[in-house]
Amino acid sequence: MRINGKCHCGNIAFHLDWEGDAPRIPARACGCTFCVKHGGVWTSNPAGKLSVAIEDATLVSKYEFGTRTATFHTCTRCGVVPLVTCEIANRLYAVVSVNAFENVDPSQLDRAAASFEGEDVESRLARRQRNWIADVRMVEGGRVAGSEPAAS
Ligand SMILES: [Zn+2]
Repeated sequence: MRINGKCHCGNIAFHLDWEGDAPRIPARACGCTFCVKHGGVWTSNPAGKLSVAIEDATLVSKYEFGTRTATFHTCTRCGVVPLVTCEIANRLYAVVSVNAFENVDPSQLDRAAASFEGEDVESRLARRQRNWIADVRMVEGGRVAGSEPAAS
């Protein structure tokens, strides 16, 4: 299925292609200090394909903390955090927020708590390489990758 998601105002939008018509989707309530404050619940699929469209990049805050290996993309207009990215060996990996989904039935979500406290940086990056979405395209200017650019 094609999962559509966006922040509240639509400045950060994405679609995630996930094999199957109504797949089971893991939803990890992250226990890190940032996600506890935001109620962050994330999913990823290493076989998924993610396209992210950013309408106005000046309205996106990129926040990093701790090991500074993950970037939280926060819409500064509406305050929603639809995705997190991590660059490893020149490849961009991502997880997306199930709270930003628009067209997924809540019964498809397998909710669980997740804590990665105590994990060292090396195993953290290796885990992301295994589990995070590895096919990520980001387009600024409001058009999702795959659509034709406006003639101008
Ligand atoms: Zn927004």
